[in-house]
Amino acid sequence: MVRKILSSILVHTIVIFLYTGCKRYTPTTQTPELIVVIVIDQLNYSHLEKIVPSLDGGLRLLFDKGLVFSNFFHDHAITNTAPGHASISTGFYPAQHGIIDNYFYDYKRGKTVTSTTSYSGYDTASNLLKPTIGDLLKSRCKKCKVVSISPKTRAAIMLGGRKADLVAWYSRKKGYFTTNKSYRYRKLLKEVKAEKFFTSIWHISHFKNDLRTIDSHYHPETGNDHTNSRFISLYPGREFYSQLYNTALLDRLTLEAIEKVFKNHNLGQDSYPDILLVSLSSLDTVGHKYGPFTPEWLATVEELDSIIARIIETVQKNVKSFLFLLTSDHGVAELPYNKNGFRRIAPNTIVCLRKAATQYSDLFVSELNVSKEASLEDIRSLKNDLEKCEDVEKVWTVLDLNDNSEFGTLFRNSYYKLRSPSFVIQFEKGTVPVIEIATTHGSFYEYDRHVPLVVWTTGKTAQKVTARYASVDIAPTIAAILGLKNSKFAGKPISEVIEWLH
Ligand SMILES: [Zn+2]
Ligand SMILES: [Zn+2]
Repeated sequence: MVRKILSSILVHTIVIFLYTGCKRYTPTTQTPELIVVIVIDQLNYSHLEKIVPSLDGGLRLLFDKGLVFSNFFHDHAITNTAPGHASISTGFYPAQHGIIDNYFYDYKRGKTVTSTTSYSGYDTASNLLKPTIGDLLKSRCKKCKVVSISPKTRAAIMLGGRKADLVAWYSRKKGYFTTNKSYRYRKLLKEVKAEKFFTSIWHISHFKNDLRTIDSHYHPETGNDHTNSRFISLYPGREFYSQLYNTALLDRLTLEAIEKVFKNHNLGQDSYPDILLVSLSSLDTVGHKYGPFTPEWLATVEELDSIIARIIETVQKNVKSFLFLLTSDHGVAELPYNKNGFRRIAPNTIVCLRKAATQYSDLFVSELNVSKEASLEDIRSLKNDLEKCEDVEKVWTVLDLNDNSEFGTLFRNSYYKLRSPSFVIQFEKGTVPVIEIATTHGSFYEYDRHVPLVVWTTGKTAQKVTARYASVDIAPTIAAILGLKNSKFAGKPISEVIEWLH
């Protein structure tokens, strides 16, 4: 009898398994066949809002027709690429998913590693301590496909996680999209080659409106005339592949990779929902090098606008029901021209910080980390010395973990004991703490944390949402849409998205 019941259960289970392709997961009728998550690397909400009326492609379409969130933030202190992407994909803060920065000193390994450095020696998501939304889907539904593509290794891997079928990024050494053996689909993309752009010119658009803040390609501060350094190599080798990385052509190559993957793997074309995660990097590389609202930046936004239009077209052509979510991993500081509330870090500040640290050089094990043996007194006293330097608002250390201010919460959300720097320097608001490049991000301030979230599918009415949400709310929202019950997150599903879809 027992055997009979058991075998009936077994048969039943097999039937369910065959039916759904998934052990503990049945997609509902409302689950879209494909969810597309697009992350624009380095995009402030205010910049998107300002430029969108001048566009006519995919960014414009999403913004005009979608559910647009005007109060959407990253709620962590170190606003860089790897933590931003990991917070979007996992629904946890860096304090929990462990990716506190693009690089960190790993006390366990006794060395500085990148967010994707694994013990095996190649790039993986092994430093990521929480599953991504793709991992959650894959663990319940083997036939569901998860694909992540970005020119940047860290962006592709942090979005895709451990179980994605395909994670691909651009190799600056080889000049094509690549992956490694931790992912299932490895046959790809070598045909998506940078070489084809060797005889192209990156056309800088000439916006006729007054969006442009700077009129030439010349940076008065750095003294670089970027027009001359754009394409000088005479052979399509490493140097050229690297140069391409700082132009909008990079994302055109990414688009090709996406289209290839679409064709090869039939995304969104069966009853099992798939997730396509894309991070477009040009705006970040161009933004750092030239700055927002320069001709190069405007040209890159135009290019992105048309690339996103092409992605939408490809999806609409091939997939019956889909959902787009567009966001960014962090914002950026304005170009520091003193009149707009932004200024470049004073050379004296750098000298002052280095001088202060030199007195404690015995304590250091890396650039920003002291040894575990350092006493709290040592940390307090170095913190006090660093805080005396010009441009420094506050230096955050282990002594500040109980700070209950807004910045204190951001600091805690970025703090993971075994990886965090011993000193997080918060410069005064508006300080741009770089000298060789135009501008950067990474601060506690709103300009680095306030990013867009736009959700779009066909047949819905455009709507603006002013309620405040954070990047950790994206993964729980996707989980709710996919019906992935009992998943845990630090964030919450965004009720406006769920209601809008019903
Ligand atoms: Zn980034
Ligand atoms: Zn960046």
